[in-house]
Amino acid sequence: MKPIPPMVVEIRLGLCAECVHLAPDPCAACAHGKWDAYVRCEPDLPPLATMAGNLAQAAFDETLARLSGTPQISETDINKRLSICSACERFRPSDQRCSICGCFLDFKTRLRSQDCPLGKWRD
Ligand code: SF4
Repeated sequence: MKPIPPMVVEIRLGLCAECVHLAPDPCAACAHGKWDAYVRCEPDLPPLATMAGNLAQAAFDETLARLSGTPQISETDINKRLSICSACERFRPSDQRCSICGCFLDFKTRLRSQDCPLGKWRD
């Protein structure tokens, strides 16, 4: 378990005020949603080389899909993908990226050749 940064403890104590149930997990969420606006732990991005490889592969796959006539993703499906991502534990709200592939999701969700690395878009 990661130690709780002192600043996080200070903010939480201020928000919790009289609450005695301070969570020991630095990524825990306040049951009443009060911490999210102030403190939210985010998963790290993959290494730069991995992200560069993913980007190159995505560009290649998308080109192939376009040349082979695969239809574009509809706005409805794009919004459905974004909705799934925004509720995912691997989503990074600060930069709207997936922490597994490192992709910017407002871009990736529009690509017909791409899929969620966890298969969540297919559910
Ligand atoms: S692409 Fe998949 S793993 Fe990544 S944030 Fe979206 S739902 Fe989560």
